[in-house]
Amino acid sequence: MPYFTLDASSLQHWLTNHADLASRLGGSPADWTIREVSDGNLNTVFLVDGSGGSLCCKQALPHVRVVPDWPMPLERALYEARYMRATADAVRPAAPELYFYDDEMFLLVMECLTPHEVLRTALIRDEAQPGFSAVIGQYVARSVHATSWISQPFEHGSKLLADFAGNTALTRITVDLILTDPFRPCSRNPSPETGLLPDVEALQADKPLHRAVGSLQERFLTARQALLHGDLHTGSIMLHNNDVRVIDGEFATMGPIGFDCGLYLGNLTLHACAAPDKNALITSEITAFWNSFTTELRTLLKTGGGDVWALSDETQRRDLLDNFLLDILRDTAGFCGLEIIRRTVGFAQVADYTLCATPESRTAARRKALQTGRALILKAPSLHTLEDLLSVLTLQ
Ligand code: ADP
Ligand code: MG
Ligand code: MG
Ligand code: MG
Repeated sequence: MPYFTLDASSLQHWLTNHADLASRLGGSPADWTIREVSDGNLNTVFLVDGSGGSLCCKQALPHVRVVPDWPMPLERALYEARYMRATADAVRPAAPELYFYDDEMFLLVMECLTPHEVLRTALIRDEAQPGFSAVIGQYVARSVHATSWISQPFEHGSKLLADFAGNTALTRITVDLILTDPFRPCSRNPSPETGLLPDVEALQADKPLHRAVGSLQERFLTARQALLHGDLHTGSIMLHNNDVRVIDGEFATMGPIGFDCGLYLGNLTLHACAAPDKNALITSEITAFWNSFTTELRTLLKTGGGDVWALSDETQRRDLLDNFLLDILRDTAGFCGLEIIRRTVGFAQVADYTLCATPESRTAARRKALQTGRALILKAPSLHTLEDLLSVLTLQ
């Protein structure tokens, strides 16, 4: 079927023609309820409920959903499907199950997460059950282990490089929106409030900072360590009690492992900047993430399987792994700083700032975020431990 943009009624029709999906819903199509829940910037998402079950249907649009004159290739849905397939076995049950991908409609049909809530929303409403970050740490460790050169023969990595090399439109978004735009005047950056103008001008004139950002740009585009989720912010996670799931892998690309870690920790830190009364919670979530990520990755990488470190004995392996994790920590800090800055002054800012009660406290929160992001980027290369990273965050 040639591509067209689905609405509730054409989706109902499409589903009736897919017997295996219709049978998951049960009952008769007339009794299905279909609701649109799109809240991201790019795609349309429908949740379909039947008497026997429910489905989540996500379709790519030929443009950015929130900016209709910004064209965007439909193929991003294909990369999201590939990412889900490449990581499903390793991360299960921490991602929804993909039931079907339609490569003409650019439509993913997956497990409907219900009554789950988006983590960012749960944090803003103060409803997230503490400890969720341990699942995310494990998720990142498992997904990168399944796709890394240390655990897999190099042919596996070469195949992944080829399978995701075409995801350039979304990588372009990352390169522009995270790694470049916030540090220069750019029409995509919303105008900052008057009180923040001097801070934004200073950021855009900060030569030492731009040099450090240059190193991170180089890392992002050339360190092909493993398959990344690529957009691991708190809006790409859904949870209900202790059932925590990662969604929205359309930015998937081979890249530095610290990129996924940094985006996640950056969004946690932004939440604490907007809501300082949550500092203790966020510090403990960051710690839980890092401990779970490193513990899981150490366990998984104890034995080899890849061509990298093939000659090492146990002691050498431990030593190599220590260095590997140190590089990831430093990348994590740098990308964490970049994410904090772009979500504060660039395109696609975060709703967490709505927690600030007054315009003055919001400006103060954003200023703190910019200072924290800058410190992280500049100090990243000299960090050694999680405690070093936490001391740059000053959330305690
Ligand atoms: P986008 O790429 O446009 O950001 P997302 O994949 O983030 O789209 O999905 C947008 C919203 O749809 C999510 O914030 C969430 O509310 C809902 N959603 C996405 N996937 C599921 C799912 N598997 N089950 C239930 N709701 C989902
Ligand atoms: Mg939602
Ligand atoms: Mg999203
Ligand atoms: Mg998305």
